[in-house]
Amino acid sequence: MLNAADPEFLNSLEDLLPSGTLRAAEPRYLEEPRGRWHGIAGAVACPSTVEEVAAIVRACAAARVGIVPWGGGTGLVGGQIMGEGPLPLVLSLERMNRMRAIYPQENVMLAEAGMILADVQAAAEASARLFPLTLASQGSCRIGGNLSSNAGGVNVLRYGNARDLCLGLEAVLPDGSIWHGLKRLRKDNTGYDLRGLLIGAEGTLGVITAAALRLFPKPASEGAALLVVPNPAAALRLLALAGERLGGGISAFELLSGVGLEFLAETMPDKKQPFGAIPDWMVLIDLGLAEGGDPQAALEALFEVAVAEGLVSDGVIAQSLAQRAAFWDLRETIPLANRMIGAVSSHDISVPLGEIARFIDRAGRALMQIGPWRINCFGHLGDGNLHYNVFPPKGQKPQDFKGIRDQVKTLVHDLVDELGGSVSAEHGIGRLKVDDLERYGSGAKLAAMRAIKAALDPLGIMNPGAVLRGAG
Ligand SMILES: Cc1cc2nc3c(=O)[nH]c(=O)nc-3n(C[C@H](O)[C@H](O)[C@H](O)COP(=O)(O)OP(=O)(O)OC[C@H]3O[C@@H](n4cnc5c(N)ncnc54)[C@H](O)[C@@H]3O)c2cc1C
Repeated sequence: MLNAADPEFLNSLEDLLPSGTLRAAEPRYLEEPRGRWHGIAGAVACPSTVEEVAAIVRACAAARVGIVPWGGGTGLVGGQIMGEGPLPLVLSLERMNRMRAIYPQENVMLAEAGMILADVQAAAEASARLFPLTLASQGSCRIGGNLSSNAGGVNVLRYGNARDLCLGLEAVLPDGSIWHGLKRLRKDNTGYDLRGLLIGAEGTLGVITAAALRLFPKPASEGAALLVVPNPAAALRLLALAGERLGGGISAFELLSGVGLEFLAETMPDKKQPFGAIPDWMVLIDLGLAEGGDPQAALEALFEVAVAEGLVSDGVIAQSLAQRAAFWDLRETIPLANRMIGAVSSHDISVPLGEIARFIDRAGRALMQIGPWRINCFGHLGDGNLHYNVFPPKGQKPQDFKGIRDQVKTLVHDLVDELGGSVSAEHGIGRLKVDDLERYGSGAKLAAMRAIKAALDPLGIMNPGAVLRGAG
């Protein structure tokens, strides 16, 4: 049983830390992007060194007080928001925001966990390198949060997700010990992969305080095209064709639906639409080529072949970096338009590439039997990861459909499971999907996860109630 971070505990903690480290829990630490949960906290601790983090964790362990690690607060599954139970201590990494070192020739950067993702990208760029993790929340999320949620984003197809972009970690384990694993090694087979375990653990196994990040050479030239496809099956054939012709040069391959562009037209009428009439389906292809490559010419050649094969009927190839940015702005603004319209149920799912068309077809037909929905299905097609979001008919509110939200969610997730997919492709489990993990997760995996949690965090102080039920 955990105890609350009450005034007596907070006074004793304050004595251990430099003044100003403990703060009142301002609203921003207790809210999350979709406004679904409201958090509770005795206070917020903002340490500036790993030793201070260790002192905080040791004190919490001794007093059995729960800790909720907090990065930028942009997580979408409530992992950073504890809404009930004994008051926890929120542990924000925001003051540990330095780049400790960069090794351009090794393609490695050592970054503290509180570095904002956009600052990590900018620091890499300043050394003529690329840190490819790219998310719409990059101006607020922090690298420790990205690693803890094993974030994906738009460039996974080419560079992998956050786990693939990390070589080593420094972390504080639940007993307050410091793991100095900030290695710059690409090969290190010395026993269990603690790095891999802490990444994606959503703060339930320890606090990440710094990371050795993989950098890449920057592509010499970049380009993008927005192509109209007749259906998702054609989009997948286009992906295969593009892969054969352009190989590793494809940085992103995103599916957009006409519903997404309609939402943009409804909520942001001033935004320039790329096509006269909104098509049903489009893909956004982004290319980054090495010296001597010509992305525009490569995309034009792909367009011609794809039209000849009946995979593409129309399209725009960016004529400038500004136009490429405008395509991406459209793509990245769709989640905001979604929020303004208001979803009945949103799903971050993945299925094997070969099942995507079947999934979209079957899910759409099954859902239409229970309501006249508007479905905005879009996302990282190249990774098999779709954001499959179900909205009320025009003019109606999501609240009117509260009663059947669970039915919608279960229908979608059951189908994903049947097709061998995942009910959380990139956002994690947090507190939102604890039931889903139990319903769809393998028994053997859940038992192993519980055993790992019990071994590393026997008191259950790390992010109580996130990922695993009743842990803490
Ligand atoms: C507009 C928008 C777009 C997004 N797009 C994408 C996308 O394309 N792909 C994608 O994968 N995600 C996306 N996300 C969600 C994504 O998970 C987050 O943006 C990001 O990875 C979370 O980082 P954060 O610093 O905000 O973490 P938080 O939200 O603060 O925390 C997330 C989880 O990590 C834990 N945590 C945070 N820091 C640490 C630490 N240092 N040590 C241990 N645990 C920690 C928290 O307790 C929590 O469980 C998006 C979110 C928004 C709002």
